[in-house]
Amino acid sequence: MSTADTRISPLKMRQAQFRRAIHHMGHLKRGVVDFFLRPKRTLSVCFPVEMDDGSVRVFHGYRTLHSTILGPGKGGIRYHPKVTAREVEALATLMTWKCALIRVPFGGAKGGVACDAKALSEGELRRITRRYVAELGDNIGPHTDIPAPDLYTNQQTMAWVYDTYQALHPGENNLPVVTGKPLDLGGAEGRSEATGHGAISALARYLELHPLDGHRTLAGCSVAVQGFGEVGRVAAERCAELGARVIAISDSSGGILARDGLDLAAVRQHKAACGRVDGLAGTTTIDNETLLTLDCDVLIPAALANQIHAGNAADVRARVVVEGANAPLTPQADRILQERGIPVLPDILANSGGVVVSYYEWVQNLKNESWTRAENLARLDARMQDATAGVVGRRDTLLAEHRDRQRPPDLRTAALAIAIERLSRVTLERGIWP
Ligand code: NAD
Repeated sequence: MSTADTRISPLKMRQAQFRRAIHHMGHLKRGVVDFFLRPKRTLSVCFPVEMDDGSVRVFHGYRTLHSTILGPGKGGIRYHPKVTAREVEALATLMTWKCALIRVPFGGAKGGVACDAKALSEGELRRITRRYVAELGDNIGPHTDIPAPDLYTNQQTMAWVYDTYQALHPGENNLPVVTGKPLDLGGAEGRSEATGHGAISALARYLELHPLDGHRTLAGCSVAVQGFGEVGRVAAERCAELGARVIAISDSSGGILARDGLDLAAVRQHKAACGRVDGLAGTTTIDNETLLTLDCDVLIPAALANQIHAGNAADVRARVVVEGANAPLTPQADRILQERGIPVLPDILANSGGVVVSYYEWVQNLKNESWTRAENLARLDARMQDATAGVVGRRDTLLAEHRDRQRPPDLRTAALAIAIERLSRVTLERGIWP
């Protein structure tokens, strides 16, 4: 059962994380950091679309460009009835930090249209997308702001984004205006696996640096994963490839448990046939709440925000938590796990693999190249591992310097400190305009 802390506004949560990080960074130039908390601009657009039944409906869309300090904006477009300007701003803020931490030359951005994608036909979604992109006009562009898929948008949506932008800007190489495109249209091999794959690269490096009860690698570790989508399924499969035992997995209908390890190919087949993971022969059905509190080495919440909260954080029995989803822990849960000595690989680091391979897609589109899946994933592995070592090293330094009675720094604080420092350094190198 969720508790009051799950109702925290995403923007407030990010701002609190930010303030916690700058508390440990006394040397920053005054005023500069305030600039990182606020979005550069948020566009709000309103447009009519003709529906299949001949009626006309008005839709509201948003696009936030949070920062251009490191380069053009980068961030997904989501289609969801609850999309608001505040939510989009919070997600764009997170993108700025992710890009700065993982060293891709982008700023943060995010966009969305308030609509129920599940209730719309393909034709209606296409018309919404084209009109939304036309309304954004030159506020997106290969060197301005580069969208990508997010909740209820996919490769098909990105193909429409590209096609619309191309129609408005003929005679140019417009492929880099959007990433997450279909492979035939300049998409990157391995993009769909990138986030789940990257999360496990980060975990593997973390275990090398901080072995868990003697486990220096994933071999022999027990893993529970919440979510069987693009992030959760790939993360589970990658853990199994590296020798771990994936003992539990779930989707929105419920979860399954097999203490000796699940046969993930069988889970996939069952999900394809029945639309849900539970009910697979040889497994025990569990609910999502039980999955989060299983006795295991690694817990990967890779579905929704606010899954581990004040009401269940004390019951988490994993030895390490990897944030596959964005904000799966509330701030209170984060504190409780820290007090209990359970490390959390934060979302800003753990799920940044998607934006890294999006960056590779953009580079390949600009250079008219096409790298193999193995090349994209090998580059991703190296980048995730470097970033993880950097975050762990920084956490250790911050801990050694920690003197006051405030909450000690953790991996999230360290990741944010690296990101904020880079943004601050580049802002001053470029010089405050004019
Ligand atoms: P997805 O839609 O492919 O999969 C989501 C999964 O979560 C599905 O299996 C769904 O059944 C499951 N789910 C939904 N409600 C659930 C519940 N109450 N309990 C358990 N499972 C539930 O989405 P995804 O791309 O895998 O993204 C998952 C999370 O990761 C989201 O928070 C997303 O914002 C974040 N994320 C994704 C990417 C990416 O590249 N895909 C990158 C960064 C962050």
